[in-house]
Amino acid sequence: MRVSIGDEVNKWVSRGLDRHIRLAVTGLSTAGKTAFITSLVNQLLHVSTNPRLPLFAPVRDGVLQGAKRVPQPDLCMARFGYDEGMGRLLSDPPSWPQPTNDVSQIRLALKYVPQQGALKYLQNSATLYLDIIDYPGEWLLDLPMLELDFYAWSEQQFASLKGKRETLAATWRESMRDRDWSQAADESLLAEVSKHYTDYLYQCKSAAGLHWVQPGRFVLPGELAGAPVLQFFPIDPEQVSAQQVADADKDSALGLLKARFEHYKQHVIKPFYKQHFSKFDRQIILVDCLQPLNAGPESFNDMRQAIEHLMGSFRYGRNNLLKRLFAPRIDKVLFAATKADHVTPEQHPHMVSLMQQIIHEAYQHASFEGISMECMSLASISATTPGFVSHKGEQMAALQGTGLDGEARMLFPGEVPKRLPNSAFWDEQGFDFVPFRPGNIESDEPLPHIRMDKALQYLLGDKF
Ligand code: GDP
Repeated sequence: MRVSIGDEVNKWVSRGLDRHIRLAVTGLSTAGKTAFITSLVNQLLHVSTNPRLPLFAPVRDGVLQGAKRVPQPDLCMARFGYDEGMGRLLSDPPSWPQPTNDVSQIRLALKYVPQQGALKYLQNSATLYLDIIDYPGEWLLDLPMLELDFYAWSEQQFASLKGKRETLAATWRESMRDRDWSQAADESLLAEVSKHYTDYLYQCKSAAGLHWVQPGRFVLPGELAGAPVLQFFPIDPEQVSAQQVADADKDSALGLLKARFEHYKQHVIKPFYKQHFSKFDRQIILVDCLQPLNAGPESFNDMRQAIEHLMGSFRYGRNNLLKRLFAPRIDKVLFAATKADHVTPEQHPHMVSLMQQIIHEAYQHASFEGISMECMSLASISATTPGFVSHKGEQMAALQGTGLDGEARMLFPGEVPKRLPNSAFWDEQGFDFVPFRPGNIESDEPLPHIRMDKALQYLLGDKF
Protein backbone atom coordinates (compact mmCIF):
# COMPACT_ATOMS: atom_id res chain seq x y z
CA MET A 1 0.00 0.00 0.00
CA ARG A 2 1.37 3.37 -0.97
CA VAL A 3 1.05 6.21 1.51
CA SER A 4 1.28 9.69 0.07
CA ILE A 5 2.91 12.59 1.85
CA GLY A 6 -0.49 14.31 1.70
CA ASP A 7 -2.11 11.44 3.67
CA GLU A 8 0.60 11.63 6.28
CA VAL A 9 0.18 15.36 6.63
CA ASN A 10 -3.60 14.95 6.94
CA LYS A 11 -3.19 12.30 9.62
CA TRP A 12 -0.76 14.46 11.49
CA VAL A 13 -3.05 17.47 11.17
CA SER A 14 -6.15 15.62 12.36
CA ARG A 15 -4.21 14.28 15.34
CA GLY A 16 -3.31 17.87 16.05
CA LEU A 17 -6.97 18.89 15.78
CA ASP A 18 -8.11 16.64 18.57
CA ARG A 19 -6.86 18.75 21.41
CA HIS A 20 -8.03 18.41 24.99
CA ILE A 21 -7.89 20.43 28.12
CA ARG A 22 -9.06 19.30 31.54
CA LEU A 23 -10.19 22.14 33.75
CA ALA A 24 -10.72 21.32 37.42
CA VAL A 25 -13.09 23.46 39.44
CA THR A 26 -12.85 23.21 43.19
CA GLY A 27 -13.69 25.10 46.35
CA LEU A 28 -15.17 24.37 49.76
CA SER A 29 -18.93 23.70 49.94
CA THR A 30 -21.05 26.70 48.96
CA ALA A 31 -18.01 28.51 47.50
CA GLY A 32 -19.96 28.69 44.22
CA LYS A 33 -18.66 25.76 42.08
CA THR A 34 -22.06 24.77 40.70
CA ALA A 35 -22.96 28.36 39.82
CA PHE A 36 -19.51 28.86 38.24
CA ILE A 37 -19.65 25.78 36.00
CA THR A 38 -23.25 26.50 35.00
CA SER A 39 -22.28 30.03 33.99
CA LEU A 40 -19.06 28.99 32.25
CA VAL A 41 -20.89 26.42 30.12
CA ASN A 42 -23.68 28.88 29.45
CA GLN A 43 -21.25 31.64 28.36
CA LEU A 44 -19.46 29.29 26.00
CA LEU A 45 -22.67 27.87 24.52
CA HIS A 46 -23.67 31.44 23.60
CA VAL A 47 -20.26 32.19 22.18
CA SER A 48 -21.29 33.11 18.64
CA THR A 49 -23.62 35.87 19.85
CA ASN A 50 -22.27 36.58 23.31
CA PRO A 51 -21.89 40.31 23.90
CA ARG A 52 -20.85 39.70 27.51
CA LEU A 53 -17.27 38.46 27.04
CA PRO A 54 -15.15 41.46 25.96
CA LEU A 55 -12.13 40.31 28.00
CA PHE A 56 -12.07 36.80 26.51
CA ALA A 57 -9.86 37.39 23.45
CA PRO A 58 -10.87 34.30 21.40
CA VAL A 59 -14.49 35.53 21.40
CA ARG A 60 -13.67 39.22 21.08
CA ASP A 61 -11.40 38.52 18.08
CA GLY A 62 -13.79 36.07 16.42
CA VAL A 63 -11.36 33.14 16.83
CA LEU A 64 -13.77 30.97 18.80
CA GLN A 65 -16.65 30.22 16.45
CA GLY A 66 -18.99 28.02 18.42
CA ALA A 67 -19.37 25.49 21.22
CA LYS A 68 -21.55 22.48 21.81
CA ARG A 69 -21.95 19.85 24.48
CA VAL A 70 -20.69 16.39 23.63
CA PRO A 71 -20.87 13.14 25.63
CA GLN A 72 -18.36 13.04 28.46
CA PRO A 73 -15.43 10.64 28.13
CA ASP A 74 -15.55 9.09 31.60
CA LEU A 75 -18.69 6.96 31.81
CA CYS A 76 -18.17 6.16 35.48
CA MET A 77 -18.28 9.77 36.60
CA ALA A 78 -21.53 11.62 37.36
CA ARG A 79 -22.70 14.09 34.72
CA PHE A 80 -22.67 17.74 35.76
CA GLY A 81 -26.34 18.83 35.97
CA TYR A 82 -26.23 21.79 33.58
CA ASP A 83 -29.82 21.41 32.32
CA GLU A 84 -31.18 21.01 35.83
CA GLY A 85 -29.28 24.13 36.97
CA MET A 86 -30.51 26.19 34.00
CA GLY A 87 -34.02 24.87 34.62
CA ARG A 88 -33.97 26.36 38.10
CA LEU A 89 -32.47 29.67 36.95
CA LEU A 90 -35.13 30.02 34.24
CA SER A 91 -38.07 29.04 36.43
CA ASP A 92 -40.49 31.52 37.92
CA PRO A 93 -39.41 32.58 40.50
CA PRO A 94 -35.79 31.80 39.58
CA SER A 95 -33.70 29.82 42.06
CA TRP A 96 -30.05 28.80 42.39
CA PRO A 97 -28.82 25.50 40.88
CA GLN A 98 -28.61 22.62 43.35
CA PRO A 99 -25.00 21.83 44.31
CA THR A 100 -23.53 18.39 43.67
CA ASN A 101 -21.68 16.57 46.45
CA ASP A 102 -19.49 14.30 44.38
CA VAL A 103 -17.14 14.53 41.42
CA SER A 104 -19.04 15.39 38.24
CA GLN A 105 -18.04 16.24 34.71
CA ILE A 106 -19.20 17.95 31.53
CA ARG A 107 -17.51 18.12 28.10
CA LEU A 108 -17.72 20.87 25.50
CA ALA A 109 -16.37 20.89 21.97
CA LEU A 110 -15.06 24.34 21.02
CA LYS A 111 -14.69 25.12 17.30
CA TYR A 112 -12.03 27.74 16.53
CA VAL A 113 -9.79 29.19 13.84
CA PRO A 114 -6.27 28.07 14.77
CA GLN A 115 -3.93 30.93 15.61
CA GLN A 116 -0.80 28.97 16.53
CA GLY A 117 1.65 26.46 15.13
CA ALA A 118 1.32 24.52 11.89
CA LEU A 119 -2.47 24.27 12.22
CA LYS A 120 -2.65 28.00 11.53
CA TYR A 121 -1.40 27.40 7.97
CA LEU A 122 -3.07 24.06 7.32
CA GLN A 123 -6.61 24.29 8.69
CA ASN A 124 -9.45 26.80 8.75
CA SER A 125 -10.97 25.32 11.84
CA ALA A 126 -10.01 23.04 14.70
CA THR A 127 -11.68 21.62 17.80
CA LEU A 128 -10.64 21.94 21.42
CA TYR A 129 -12.38 19.54 23.80
CA LEU A 130 -12.87 21.10 27.19
CA ASP A 131 -13.55 18.74 30.09
CA ILE A 132 -14.77 20.55 33.17
CA ILE A 133 -14.53 18.55 36.39
CA ASP A 134 -16.29 19.65 39.55
CA TYR A 135 -14.99 18.19 42.79
CA PRO A 136 -15.37 19.11 46.46
CA GLY A 137 -12.47 21.09 47.92
CA GLU A 138 -13.09 19.19 51.16
CA TRP A 139 -11.44 16.17 49.53
CA LEU A 140 -8.22 18.16 49.08
CA LEU A 141 -8.17 18.76 52.83
CA ASP A 142 -7.38 15.07 53.24
CA LEU A 143 -4.00 15.28 51.51
CA PRO A 144 -1.99 16.00 54.70
CA MET A 145 -3.43 12.81 56.24
CA LEU A 146 -1.19 10.82 53.88
CA GLU A 147 1.82 11.92 55.88
CA LEU A 148 0.35 11.12 59.28
CA ASP A 149 -0.14 7.84 61.07
CA PHE A 150 -3.27 7.16 63.08
CA TYR A 151 -1.79 8.39 66.36
CA ALA A 152 -0.35 11.62 64.92
CA TRP A 153 -3.68 12.31 63.22
CA SER A 154 -5.53 11.72 66.51
CA GLU A 155 -3.20 14.17 68.26
CA GLN A 156 -3.86 16.79 65.59
CA GLN A 157 -7.63 16.35 65.78
CA PHE A 158 -7.71 16.58 69.57
CA ALA A 159 -5.46 19.67 69.54
CA SER A 160 -8.07 21.44 67.40
CA LEU A 161 -10.87 20.96 69.96
CA LYS A 162 -11.13 24.57 71.08
CA GLY A 163 -13.90 27.19 70.98
CA LYS A 164 -16.97 26.05 69.03
CA ARG A 165 -15.32 22.74 68.19
CA GLU A 166 -14.91 21.85 71.84
CA THR A 167 -18.60 22.48 72.50
CA LEU A 168 -19.75 20.59 69.41
CA ALA A 169 -17.50 17.62 70.21
CA ALA A 170 -19.10 17.02 73.64
CA THR A 171 -21.51 14.21 72.63
CA TRP A 172 -18.89 12.39 70.58
CA ARG A 173 -16.34 12.57 73.44
CA GLU A 174 -18.95 11.42 75.92
CA SER A 175 -19.58 8.34 73.74
CA MET A 176 -15.86 7.48 74.06
CA ARG A 177 -15.59 7.95 77.79
CA ASP A 178 -14.25 5.00 79.88
CA ARG A 179 -13.77 2.69 76.90
CA ASP A 180 -10.92 0.26 76.74
CA TRP A 181 -9.83 0.31 73.11
CA SER A 182 -7.34 -2.52 73.58
CA GLN A 183 -10.26 -4.97 74.00
CA ALA A 184 -11.57 -7.05 71.10
CA ALA A 185 -13.33 -4.80 68.61
CA ASP A 186 -17.07 -4.38 69.02
CA GLU A 187 -18.27 -3.37 65.53
CA SER A 188 -21.50 -1.83 66.73
CA LEU A 189 -19.69 0.32 69.29
CA LEU A 190 -17.25 1.53 66.64
CA ALA A 191 -20.18 2.31 64.32
CA GLU A 192 -21.93 4.24 67.08
CA VAL A 193 -18.90 6.34 68.06
CA SER A 194 -18.12 6.93 64.37
CA LYS A 195 -21.63 8.23 63.93
CA HIS A 196 -21.15 10.69 66.78
CA TYR A 197 -17.83 11.77 65.28
CA THR A 198 -19.44 12.24 61.86
CA ASP A 199 -22.29 14.23 63.45
CA TYR A 200 -19.70 16.42 65.10
CA LEU A 201 -18.01 17.07 61.75
CA TYR A 202 -21.36 17.84 60.11
CA GLN A 203 -22.20 20.28 62.86
CA CYS A 204 -18.84 22.00 62.47
CA LYS A 205 -19.74 22.57 58.83
CA SER A 206 -23.41 23.34 58.92
CA ALA A 207 -24.11 24.82 62.33
CA ALA A 208 -20.81 26.54 63.00
CA GLY A 209 -19.80 27.46 59.42
CA LEU A 210 -16.37 25.82 59.90
CA HIS A 211 -14.56 24.32 56.94
CA TRP A 212 -11.54 22.42 58.18
CA VAL A 213 -13.07 18.98 58.73
CA GLN A 214 -11.21 15.72 58.32
CA PRO A 215 -11.71 13.22 56.85
CA GLY A 216 -13.44 15.12 54.05
CA ARG A 217 -15.45 12.09 52.91
CA PHE A 218 -17.20 11.87 56.26
CA VAL A 219 -19.18 15.00 55.42
CA LEU A 220 -19.23 14.55 51.62
CA PRO A 221 -19.15 10.76 51.24
CA GLY A 222 -20.18 10.59 47.58
CA GLU A 223 -20.52 6.93 46.61
CA LEU A 224 -18.94 5.80 49.95
CA ALA A 225 -21.98 6.69 52.11
CA GLY A 226 -22.42 4.01 54.80
CA ALA A 227 -19.22 2.09 53.94
CA PRO A 228 -17.12 0.76 56.91
CA VAL A 229 -14.08 2.65 55.60
CA LEU A 230 -15.88 5.75 56.89
CA GLN A 231 -16.26 4.23 60.36
CA PHE A 232 -13.30 5.36 62.38
CA PHE A 233 -12.49 8.32 64.63
CA PRO A 234 -9.46 9.79 66.41
CA ILE A 235 -8.68 8.51 69.90
CA ASP A 236 -7.77 10.74 72.85
CA PRO A 237 -3.95 10.92 73.14
CA GLU A 238 -4.37 11.59 76.87
CA GLN A 239 -5.92 8.15 77.29
CA VAL A 240 -3.95 6.08 74.81
CA SER A 241 -0.21 6.28 74.15
CA ALA A 242 1.62 6.07 70.82
CA GLN A 243 3.17 2.79 72.01
CA GLN A 244 -0.24 1.28 72.75
CA VAL A 245 -1.36 2.15 69.24
CA ALA A 246 1.82 0.71 67.73
CA ASP A 247 1.44 -2.55 69.72
CA ALA A 248 -2.33 -2.88 69.24
CA ASP A 249 -3.60 -6.34 68.38
CA LYS A 250 -5.15 -6.31 64.93
CA ASP A 251 -8.45 -7.66 66.27
CA SER A 252 -8.71 -5.02 69.00
CA ALA A 253 -10.77 -1.86 68.59
CA LEU A 254 -7.53 0.11 68.36
CA GLY A 255 -6.18 -2.25 65.72
CA LEU A 256 -9.34 -1.91 63.66
CA LEU A 257 -9.39 1.88 63.91
CA LYS A 258 -5.77 2.01 62.83
CA ALA A 259 -6.45 -0.35 59.91
CA ARG A 260 -9.46 1.67 58.73
CA PHE A 261 -7.48 4.88 58.91
CA GLU A 262 -4.75 3.32 56.73
CA HIS A 263 -7.36 1.89 54.38
CA TYR A 264 -8.90 5.33 53.98
CA LYS A 265 -5.48 6.74 53.07
CA GLN A 266 -4.65 3.98 50.59
CA HIS A 267 -8.05 3.39 49.01
CA VAL A 268 -9.83 6.71 49.22
CA ILE A 269 -7.30 9.56 49.30
CA LYS A 270 -4.64 8.14 46.99
CA PRO A 271 -7.00 6.94 44.24
CA PHE A 272 -8.65 10.36 44.18
CA TYR A 273 -5.30 12.02 43.49
CA LYS A 274 -4.26 9.35 41.04
CA GLN A 275 -7.49 9.19 39.05
CA HIS A 276 -8.35 12.85 38.93
CA PHE A 277 -5.81 15.25 40.24
CA SER A 278 -2.83 14.04 38.23
CA LYS A 279 -4.74 14.52 34.97
CA PHE A 280 -5.88 18.11 35.37
CA ASP A 281 -4.30 20.78 33.14
CA ARG A 282 -5.76 23.89 34.70
CA GLN A 283 -7.32 24.56 38.06
CA ILE A 284 -9.67 27.18 39.43
CA ILE A 285 -10.16 27.42 43.19
CA LEU A 286 -13.26 29.30 44.24
CA VAL A 287 -13.33 30.98 47.64
CA ASP A 288 -16.28 32.70 49.27
CA CYS A 289 -14.63 35.24 51.60
CA LEU A 290 -17.87 37.09 52.26
CA GLN A 291 -19.83 34.45 54.16
CA PRO A 292 -17.04 33.93 56.75
CA LEU A 293 -16.76 37.71 57.11
CA ASN A 294 -20.44 37.69 57.95
CA ALA A 295 -20.10 34.76 60.36
CA GLY A 296 -17.27 36.23 62.49
CA PRO A 297 -13.61 35.69 63.40
CA GLU A 298 -13.73 31.98 64.26
CA SER A 299 -15.39 31.10 60.98
CA PHE A 300 -13.04 33.39 59.04
CA ASN A 301 -9.89 31.97 60.61
CA ASP A 302 -11.13 28.46 60.12
CA MET A 303 -11.73 29.20 56.42
CA ARG A 304 -8.15 30.50 56.17
CA GLN A 305 -6.85 27.35 57.78
CA ALA A 306 -8.88 25.21 55.38
CA ILE A 307 -7.58 27.15 52.37
CA GLU A 308 -4.03 26.75 53.65
CA HIS A 309 -4.50 22.99 53.84
CA LEU A 310 -6.10 22.98 50.44
CA MET A 311 -3.13 24.88 49.04
CA GLY A 312 -0.94 21.98 50.10
CA SER A 313 -2.18 20.18 47.00
CA PHE A 314 -0.51 22.81 44.84
CA ARG A 315 2.80 23.00 46.66
CA TYR A 316 4.47 20.42 44.48
CA GLY A 317 7.93 21.84 45.04
CA ARG A 318 7.70 21.24 48.75
CA ASN A 319 5.47 18.27 48.67
CA ASN A 320 7.64 15.46 47.45
CA LEU A 321 5.01 12.93 48.33
CA LEU A 322 2.49 14.54 46.01
CA LYS A 323 5.01 14.79 43.24
CA ARG A 324 6.32 11.27 43.61
CA LEU A 325 2.93 9.65 43.75
CA PHE A 326 0.87 11.63 41.36
CA ALA A 327 3.08 13.73 39.07
CA PRO A 328 0.51 16.51 38.65
CA ARG A 329 0.72 18.56 35.47
CA ILE A 330 -1.31 21.67 36.27
CA ASP A 331 0.39 24.75 34.81
CA LYS A 332 -2.06 27.50 35.79
CA VAL A 333 -4.10 28.04 38.93
CA LEU A 334 -6.70 30.74 39.32
CA PHE A 335 -7.97 31.82 42.74
CA ALA A 336 -11.33 33.47 42.43
CA ALA A 337 -13.15 35.33 45.20
CA THR A 338 -16.76 34.53 44.30
CA LYS A 339 -20.12 36.29 44.65
CA ALA A 340 -18.64 39.74 43.91
CA ASP A 341 -22.17 40.93 43.10
CA HIS A 342 -22.83 40.84 46.87
CA VAL A 343 -20.77 44.00 47.31
CA THR A 344 -20.61 47.33 45.49
CA PRO A 345 -18.05 47.54 42.63
CA GLU A 346 -15.53 49.77 44.44
CA GLN A 347 -15.15 46.93 46.99
CA HIS A 348 -14.03 44.41 44.36
CA PRO A 349 -10.31 45.34 44.56
CA HIS A 350 -10.57 44.81 48.34
CA MET A 351 -11.90 41.31 47.75
CA VAL A 352 -8.85 40.59 45.59
CA SER A 353 -6.34 41.96 48.07
CA LEU A 354 -8.00 40.08 50.93
CA MET A 355 -7.84 36.92 48.88
CA GLN A 356 -4.16 37.54 48.07
CA GLN A 357 -3.50 37.82 51.77
CA ILE A 358 -5.33 34.59 52.49
CA ILE A 359 -3.18 32.67 50.02
CA HIS A 360 -0.15 34.86 50.59
CA GLU A 361 2.38 32.19 51.41
CA ALA A 362 1.59 30.05 48.43
CA TYR A 363 1.21 33.02 46.15
CA GLN A 364 4.61 34.46 46.79
CA HIS A 365 6.52 31.21 46.61
CA ALA A 366 8.12 30.68 43.27
CA SER A 367 8.44 27.07 44.37
CA PHE A 368 5.31 26.34 42.43
CA GLU A 369 7.54 24.82 39.77
CA GLY A 370 6.41 26.78 36.80
CA ILE A 371 2.78 27.04 37.81
CA SER A 372 1.42 30.47 37.16
CA MET A 373 -1.16 31.84 39.58
CA GLU A 374 -3.63 34.67 39.50
CA CYS A 375 -6.22 36.12 41.85
CA MET A 376 -9.45 37.81 40.85
CA SER A 377 -12.95 38.52 42.07
CA LEU A 378 -15.97 37.46 40.04
CA ALA A 379 -19.67 36.73 40.15
CA SER A 380 -20.57 33.66 38.12
CA ILE A 381 -24.22 34.70 37.99
CA SER A 382 -24.76 38.28 38.96
CA ALA A 383 -27.97 38.77 40.91
CA THR A 384 -27.69 42.50 41.64
CA THR A 385 -27.39 45.82 39.83
CA PRO A 386 -24.99 48.42 41.24
CA GLY A 387 -26.25 51.98 41.61
CA PHE A 388 -26.33 54.94 43.96
CA VAL A 389 -28.66 56.19 46.66
CA SER A 390 -28.67 59.67 48.14
CA HIS A 391 -28.12 59.80 51.83
CA LYS A 392 -28.07 63.19 53.62
CA GLY A 393 -27.43 64.93 50.32
CA GLU A 394 -24.58 62.60 49.36
CA GLN A 395 -24.51 59.97 46.63
CA MET A 396 -23.67 56.57 48.10
CA ALA A 397 -22.87 53.32 46.31
CA ALA A 398 -25.64 50.71 46.70
CA LEU A 399 -26.87 47.40 45.29
CA GLN A 400 -30.29 46.56 43.99
CA GLY A 401 -31.58 42.99 43.96
CA THR A 402 -34.22 40.62 45.21
CA GLY A 403 -33.80 38.83 48.53
CA LEU A 404 -34.42 35.09 48.84
CA ASP A 405 -37.84 35.99 50.28
CA GLY A 406 -38.78 37.71 46.99
CA GLU A 407 -38.59 41.23 48.50
CA ALA A 408 -36.86 43.94 46.42
CA ARG A 409 -33.79 45.30 48.24
CA MET A 410 -31.61 48.38 47.85
CA LEU A 411 -28.68 48.36 50.23
CA PHE A 412 -25.04 49.04 50.97
CA PRO A 413 -23.81 45.73 52.37
CA GLY A 414 -20.63 47.04 53.96
CA GLU A 415 -16.93 47.38 53.32
CA VAL A 416 -14.71 44.41 52.59
CA PRO A 417 -11.44 44.75 54.55
CA LYS A 418 -8.39 45.12 52.33
CA ARG A 419 -6.25 43.20 54.75
CA LEU A 420 -6.83 40.26 57.05
CA PRO A 421 -9.17 41.57 59.73
CA ASN A 422 -7.63 41.94 63.22
CA SER A 423 -9.50 41.83 66.52
CA ALA A 424 -10.13 45.58 66.63
CA PHE A 425 -11.66 45.29 63.22
CA TRP A 426 -14.06 42.56 64.32
CA ASP A 427 -15.12 44.66 67.30
CA GLU A 428 -15.87 47.73 65.22
CA GLN A 429 -17.17 46.40 61.96
CA GLY A 430 -20.54 44.97 61.10
CA PHE A 431 -21.04 43.08 57.86
CA ASP A 432 -24.33 42.44 56.29
CA PHE A 433 -23.88 40.51 53.06
CA VAL A 434 -27.40 39.31 52.45
CA PRO A 435 -28.05 36.49 49.97
CA PHE A 436 -29.89 37.40 46.77
CA ARG A 437 -32.14 35.41 44.51
CA PRO A 438 -31.02 35.20 40.87
CA GLY A 439 -32.71 37.81 38.67
CA ASN A 440 -35.15 37.03 35.84
CA ILE A 441 -33.17 35.62 32.94
CA GLU A 442 -34.13 35.35 29.25
CA SER A 443 -33.60 31.83 27.93
CA ASP A 444 -31.89 33.06 24.73
CA GLU A 445 -29.44 35.35 26.51
CA PRO A 446 -26.21 34.44 28.31
CA LEU A 447 -26.26 34.64 32.10
CA PRO A 448 -25.28 38.00 33.62
CA HIS A 449 -21.89 37.82 35.34
CA ILE A 450 -18.93 39.82 36.61
CA ARG A 451 -15.51 39.01 35.10
CA MET A 452 -16.29 35.50 33.89
CA ASP A 453 -14.63 36.65 30.65
CA LYS A 454 -11.45 37.57 32.53
CA ALA A 455 -11.44 34.13 34.18
CA LEU A 456 -11.99 32.43 30.81
CA GLN A 457 -9.15 34.42 29.29
CA TYR A 458 -6.76 33.35 32.03
CA LEU A 459 -7.81 29.70 31.97
CA LEU A 460 -8.29 29.11 28.23
CA GLY A 461 -7.19 32.19 26.28
CA ASP A 462 -3.82 30.74 25.25
CA LYS A 463 -5.24 27.45 23.98
CA PHE A 464 -6.56 28.60 20.59
P1 GDP B 1 -21.01 24.85 45.64
O1 GDP B 1 -21.38 24.12 46.90
O2 GDP B 1 -19.57 25.28 45.66
O3 GDP B 1 -21.38 24.13 44.37
O4 GDP B 1 -21.82 26.24 45.69
P2 GDP B 1 -23.01 26.75 44.76
O5 GDP B 1 -22.54 27.08 43.39
O6 GDP B 1 -24.17 25.83 44.90
O7 GDP B 1 -23.33 28.14 45.49
C1 GDP B 1 -23.87 28.19 46.79
C2 GDP B 1 -24.78 29.38 46.90
O8 GDP B 1 -24.02 30.59 46.79
C3 GDP B 1 -25.83 29.48 45.79
O9 GDP B 1 -26.96 28.72 46.09
C4 GDP B 1 -26.11 30.97 45.77
O10 GDP B 1 -26.98 31.30 46.82
C5 GDP B 1 -24.75 31.58 46.08
N1 GDP B 1 -24.00 31.96 44.87
C6 GDP B 1 -23.12 31.21 44.15
N2 GDP B 1 -22.59 31.95 43.13
C7 GDP B 1 -23.15 33.17 43.23
C8 GDP B 1 -23.01 34.39 42.48
O11 GDP B 1 -22.24 34.50 41.49
N3 GDP B 1 -23.75 35.46 42.91
C9 GDP B 1 -24.59 35.39 43.98
N4 GDP B 1 -25.28 36.48 44.32
N5 GDP B 1 -24.74 34.28 44.72
C10 GDP B 1 -24.04 33.18 44.34
